[in-house]
This record gives sequence, structure tokens and C-alpha cells, in this order.
Amino acid sequence: MTQREEFLRTIGYGEAAVAQLRRNENAAYPRNYELWYNYCAGFNHALNRAVNDILRSKGQIDTAELHVIYNEFISPSRLSDRIEDVGGRISGEIDGVMEAVNKTITANATYAGTLSEASTKLDDAPNLARLRGIVGDLLVATQQTEKVNRDLEGQLADSQRQIAELKESLDSLRFESRTDELTTLANRKHFDQSLERAVANAAETDGVLSLLITDIDNFKSFNDSFGHQTGDQVLRLVALSVKQAIKAHHLACRYGGEEFAIILPKASLSLAEALADRIRVSVKEKELKKRSTGEALGFITVSVGVATYRAGDTAVSLIERADTALYLAKRSGRNRVCTEVMLTAEEER
Ligand code: GH3
Ligand code: MG
Ligand code: MG
Repeated sequence: MTQREEFLRTIGYGEAAVAQLRRNENAAYPRNYELWYNYCAGFNHALNRAVNDILRSKGQIDTAELHVIYNEFISPSRLSDRIEDVGGRISGEIDGVMEAVNKTITANATYAGTLSEASTKLDDAPNLARLRGIVGDLLVATQQTEKVNRDLEGQLADSQRQIAELKESLDSLRFESRTDELTTLANRKHFDQSLERAVANAAETDGVLSLLITDIDNFKSFNDSFGHQTGDQVLRLVALSVKQAIKAHHLACRYGGEEFAIILPKASLSLAEALADRIRVSVKEKELKKRSTGEALGFITVSVGVATYRAGDTAVSLIERADTALYLAKRSGRNRVCTEVMLTAEEER
């Protein structure tokens, strides 16, 4: 999407959000604006339902109600907030364990002192009654120490459970931070890091690595005809074709708005070209239907550019060649796969 298109798409939501702030007389703080922006963009269905319920019953929504809705429907989805939360809970858990361990170490050291004191006392215990007294004291000290140790055991078992749970939360946060929400493919940040790594790896090993960049054909006019929401469904469908075509060691990413990039380690140019063509065919064969109404929306196609690693390549130079091949595919009529070899052939012509 060009900057201009992005501007046009979002400014409408922004203006509608400001109109809602006015209508409901909500202070124009970033939080309130954010909530109304989300509402107007319509992507967070649960949020819209909650707002609509209040509007239906009262006609207006006040700032306190906005606050509740924000915390319920926007705050939880905020990755940074959740990372902070999990981080805080992990450090709290660690503090708790450290404290319990220290307490136990102190109790055990005191107990050792009591034992050695008792041993000295036993040496010169004058009579049985005195002996009984010393053993009685020892029993009490032993029971106390046992209790401290048992408490620690309990707390450690509890912490183990908590930490296992926190680890799961961290794993899911890590997954989300690398994932594109709409398509569930890897996001651009993850792609950039992975391609750097793949290029370095190819340079160090056999130098076999290919890259595909796909771009949906005439997608702007599809959006114009059927709306952005339906366009989003199509993006999910194309992502599905990509997922179904690739193997576990390949990495597919949402590279831009309607562009996907696929990193293919250990794949030659011809293998990558064949895979690209499978994606192209799989997309063009899917008949699109509007989910809500079943209305037939026709078909869409993709163009794909393919590049393969050359000695001395960087992530940037590899992307550049895949991109140039993609534009050759567009120039040659779309719904096709072009490789960097075709680029050289075209230059020679
Ligand atoms: P071309 O065949 O040359 O690629 O034509 P095109 O219309 O697809 O042109 P281009 O790739 O430059 O346009 C991208 C369009 O994709 C613009 C925008 O309408 C749409 N788009 C980009 N991101 C999204 C998105 O997240 N959702 C939806 N629905 N559409 C998007
Ligand atoms: Mg594009
Ligand atoms: Mg396009």
C-alpha cells in the first residue's frame, strides 16, 4: 500500500473517531481516541459489540465506561503490556523463592548451632533430668527446622507450577511478537531477522538458498469493488495457499500489505520456481465467495518473483533481485512466476 493510500484509508477512521469523541463528550485523550479509532475501523468485533450494547441502552457512553471497555478489549491485546505483566510476575516469583531459600538457610544454620551447643552441654550434663531437658530442646529445634524445610518444599513446588505457567505465557507472547495477526504468517520483523540468518548460513555452508516474493494482482481494484474487509479475507486465503505449499523448514512471511515473502533454505532456483508456480496455481483456482452472503466474487491471481543466493549476496541484494523479478512478472502480464534468470535474458534482448 502506498503512503497516500494508507493515509486515505486511515484518515476516515480518524475523523470518525473524533466525531464519536464529540458526540459522546469524551475527553480527547489518546486512550479514548484509540478506543474510538478501533471502533470505527471495525476490526475488534468484541469491542464494537460492547460499545453498541451501551449505545443502544443509553444513547451515549461516558468516560468511565470507555475505561472499562478499554481495559477489557484493548489492554489485553497489547503485547507490550502483557510482556510487562509476565515479566513482573516472573521477577515476583523469583523474589519469593529467594526469600524462602534465604529463610531456610538461616533456619538450618541456627539448627546446626543448636546441635553443636547441645553436644557441648551433653558432655557435662550432671543428671538425667538435665539430659531430658537438653533432648527436649533438641526435639523442639528439630521440629521447627523440619517445618521450615517443609514450607520451602511446598513453596518450591508451587513456584514450579507458576513458572511452568509463566513459561507458557512467554512462549505464546514470543509467538505473537513474530506473527502477523491477520494471516498468522511470520511478520516483517521476523522475516528480516530470518533472512539475515539464512543468508549468513548459506554463505557459510553450501550457498543454496532461494527467495520468493508474491504480490496479489490488481488487488486495489478488488478492494475498491468489494471492500477492505473482504480484501482481508482474501489475504487470509492467499496466505493459506502459501502455507499449504511450503515445507516445515521454509519460512513464509507477510512482507507488506498484500505481499508475501518465502525464504527457502536448501532450495535451488528451479525448485523455488516450481514451488512458486504451485502457489500461483493454487490461488488462481480458488473461487472467492463473500462469507456473509455467499456472493461470488470471481477469482484473483498472484505474480511471483524468484531469486537465488549468489556468493557475496546480502539480504538486501537478494530481496532486490526477487523484487525486480516480481516486477518483470507484473510487466509480462501478471499471474505468472518470473525468476532472476529471466531478468538477465530480458536485459540481453
Ligand atoms: P498490481 O497487480 O500491480 O500489484 O496491482 P495492485 O492493485 O495490487 O497494486 P499494489 O500491489 O501496488 O497495491 C496494493 C493494494 O493492496 C493497495 C491496497 O488496496 C491493498 N492492500 C494492501 N494492504 C492491505 C490490507 O492489509 N488489507 C486489504 N484489504 N488490502 C490491502
Ligand atoms: Mg503490492
Ligand atoms: Mg498487488
